[in-house]
Amino acid sequence: MRAVTFQAPEEVRIEEVPEPELGAPGDAIVRVDASGICGSDLHIYRGRFPVEPGFTIGHEFVGTVLAAGPEVTRVAVGDRVLGTFHVACATCSSCLRGEYHRCRNGRTFGHGSSLGSLQGAQAEQLVCPWANVNLRRVPEGMSDDVALFAGDVMGTGYHAVANAGMTEGDTVAILGLGPVGLCAVQAALAGGAARVFAVDTVAERLAIAESFGALPLHLTESDVKGEIRAATEGGVDVAVDAVGDPAPLALAISLARDAGTVSGVGAYAGRGEVPLGLAWLKCLDLKLGLANVIAHVDRVLGLLESGRLDPTPLVSSHMKLDEAPEAYRIFARREALKIVLSP
Ligand SMILES: [Zn+2]
Ligand SMILES: [Zn+2]
Repeated sequence: MRAVTFQAPEEVRIEEVPEPELGAPGDAIVRVDASGICGSDLHIYRGRFPVEPGFTIGHEFVGTVLAAGPEVTRVAVGDRVLGTFHVACATCSSCLRGEYHRCRNGRTFGHGSSLGSLQGAQAEQLVCPWANVNLRRVPEGMSDDVALFAGDVMGTGYHAVANAGMTEGDTVAILGLGPVGLCAVQAALAGGAARVFAVDTVAERLAIAESFGALPLHLTESDVKGEIRAATEGGVDVAVDAVGDPAPLALAISLARDAGTVSGVGAYAGRGEVPLGLAWLKCLDLKLGLANVIAHVDRVLGLLESGRLDPTPLVSSHMKLDEAPEAYRIFARREALKIVLSP
């Protein structure tokens, strides 16, 4: 079968690779009908996240179950399913606490041996371990484009506000309007936020956030701090860093009200400087880390089904799996928010 494999920084290739086979009794084989290219695939593409040459990449998918092991009961052959970007076992101590994102046996699709050697989703087929936990049936009538978001990007946007304990009537600031930030805008509004301030430097992305109902603020051309402080009497209840860098985290700390919450869902790496003294003085709750998408996926699917969450405007192009090298070049130039590949 054909698959998109990492070769070297800035080089992915379409290669012929062996079809996946059922191994453990909880495995399912999925024929991939659509897969997404994600911001975290770019870390691999640029050589910042180590993946072995020849490894299949990609971790967002919708497809059809082709085969299932004897322990798979929640989905069946022929079902249209979506997957979560990583898999969890549901029986380790982390999973038993509901912390699937920290599963002690967890593996992430398409990230090479450092995250569990699980071949990726930008391929004609994949094998999904513990399919009872990590696959869901796609609700009747839901498009591939929409379902594709449930197990990763929308799940992460949802986590950004849900994990922050956002409640109805809260004020929220979202810093960074990539797909995750824009999904966080929708999740905050769907959760009943009174006001959502959306901050970025890209006019197009600010316009999308505004069309969702947020108040757009240009990071450099407007007085973000001044405007938010004036509108909220001292800061927002929840400030989300959807970028994953020290600068937006520092801004989030300064935008949150006293005893408010800062939620960081971007992938931080290494060290960085943030105003810890200010965070201490303001008694902030800091919530950082990978999203617990498996814990959220059923709620997110329900909100997608009802239309209260709708990522359709984020899908900027559809391309063929064979066009993946060009799709990655386009995505790396930031000319697309979300590219969906189909075989
Ligand atoms: Zn992703
Ligand atoms: Zn586990």
